[in-house]
Amino acid sequence: MDLETITSRQAIDAARMLHPYADARLNEKLGPLVVVRGRGACVYDEAGTEYIEGLAGLWCVALGFSEQRLIDAAARQLAELPFYHLFGNKSHRPAIELAEKLVELAPGRLERVFYTNSGSEANDTVVKFLHYYNNARGRTAKKKIISRQRAYHGVTTVSASLGGLPINHRDFDIPIPGVLHVACPHYWKFGRPGESEEAFANRLAQELEDLIAKEGADTIAAFIGEPINGAGGVITPPAGYWPAVEAVCRRHDILLVIDEVITGFGRTGRMFASELYGIEPDVLVLSKQLTSAYQPLAAVLMTDELYQGIAGNTAKIGALGHGFTSGGNPVSTAVALENIRIIEERGVVARVAEIAPLLQEGLRRFADHPLVGEVRGIGLIAGAELVADRASRQPFDPVGRVGAHVAQRCQAHGLILRAIGDTIAICPPLIVDEKQISTIVDTLGRALDEIQAALSRDAN
Ligand code: PMP
Repeated sequence: MDLETITSRQAIDAARMLHPYADARLNEKLGPLVVVRGRGACVYDEAGTEYIEGLAGLWCVALGFSEQRLIDAAARQLAELPFYHLFGNKSHRPAIELAEKLVELAPGRLERVFYTNSGSEANDTVVKFLHYYNNARGRTAKKKIISRQRAYHGVTTVSASLGGLPINHRDFDIPIPGVLHVACPHYWKFGRPGESEEAFANRLAQELEDLIAKEGADTIAAFIGEPINGAGGVITPPAGYWPAVEAVCRRHDILLVIDEVITGFGRTGRMFASELYGIEPDVLVLSKQLTSAYQPLAAVLMTDELYQGIAGNTAKIGALGHGFTSGGNPVSTAVALENIRIIEERGVVARVAEIAPLLQEGLRRFADHPLVGEVRGIGLIAGAELVADRASRQPFDPVGRVGAHVAQRCQAHGLILRAIGDTIAICPPLIVDEKQISTIVDTLGRALDEIQAALSRDAN
C-alpha cells in the first residue's frame, strides 16, 4: 500500500481512527487493510483479494466467517428479544440455557456462571469477586494475585496488571499493586542446560512455593494462568507444569483461575485445555470461541464454594454491586448456544484432533530453517519463534522487526498471521480444511525463505 493507491475508506480511517495494538503514525501514513467480507476460513479486502485468516481473526472464529446457523440464531433472537439485562432478578431464556450448558461442559467442579462482554471484563470481574469473597469470609488480607511473565489476560487496568507483557504496562502506570509475577514456563527459552522439562517445571513450582512463603499464603487469593500462553507467544507448558502448580496452590488455599479465552471450545483438540493438562479450575474464564466472536460475550464460571461466599455477602449487603449492562445479552448468549450446538453436532473437537498433526508436523518442517529457533504448539494453535542465531538462540535486535516482515510477506501472499515480537502465531479457524492447512504451511515457508534471502543480501 502507498499513498497513490490508498482507497477513500483507508484514507478516512487514517484520518479519523485510533487502532488498538497499532503504531498510530504508521496507520496515518499507510492506512489499514480494510476487510469487507468473510467466507469459511477466509476474508476479503476492498479489492477482492482473498486471505486465509490464519489467526481466526484474533484466535476467535472457530466456525469460520460465514456460518449461516449463527447468523440465523442471531436474527431469530433479534426478532424475539433483542435486548434484555440480567440485573436484579431479571433473566432471559438464552442466558439461562447457556449457563446450564456451560456447567455441563466445564471441567471439574464449576457450577455457577457470570456473564461479561469481553475477556478483560471477565478477568477484572474475577479479581473483584475474589476480593468480595475473601472480605466476606473475614480473610481481608487475602487479596494478592499471582500471575506470570508473558501472561495475557486483557487490557483493563486490572486485567492488564495481571498480564505480563511490557507493552501493556509501559506508560499506562500499570501494573497496579497486589499482582505478583512468577516466571514464564517457556522451557526452550528458560530451561537450563541439561535440565529436563520436568525438572524445569519443578523449579518453577518451587519458585512459586518460595514466593508464597515470602509473601504469606494468607495474603494471596489466587494464581491465574492460561493453560497455553496465547498472546504472549503461544507458549506450551513443560511436562508436569500444571499438576505441580496446582499442588502448590491447593497446599496453600490459593484458588486456581484458568483463563481459557483462547484455548476453550476445541482449540487444542479437547473441549478445554484444562482437560488436556489435568487442571481442575476454581474459576474458568471463557470468551472468543464461545460465540465464534460473532457476538461479544465472556463467561466466568466458578465453584459452588466461591459462589456461596459471594451469594452470602450479597444478601448481607443487599445486592451484588457489579454487572455490565449488556453482559450476557440475549443475542450473544443465543449465538453461543448455537455455536456450541454446532461444535457438538459436527464433532468439531474430534476433527481438530484429527487434522492437527497436519499443521503441527507441517510447521515442524521449519524447525531447522535458519530463521527458526523453535516451533511449538498443539491442536490448531502454534508458534514459530524466529532467532538471529539458531545455535545460541540469540534473538533479533530489535525484537519484532523480522517477525513483522515475515507476517507482511505472508499477507502479500494471501495469508494473515500475527507476529508477536518475533514469534509467528498460527491459529486458524477450527473449520480449516487440509488444503488450507497445507497453504498456510507453504506460505509461511515461502515468507521465511524470502526474509532469509533478504537478510543474507543485507549481510553481504
Ligand atoms: N484472556 C486471554 C487469554 C486472551 O487471549 C484475551 C484476548 N486476546 C483476553 C483475556 C482479553 O479478552 P478481550 O480482548 O475480549 O478483553
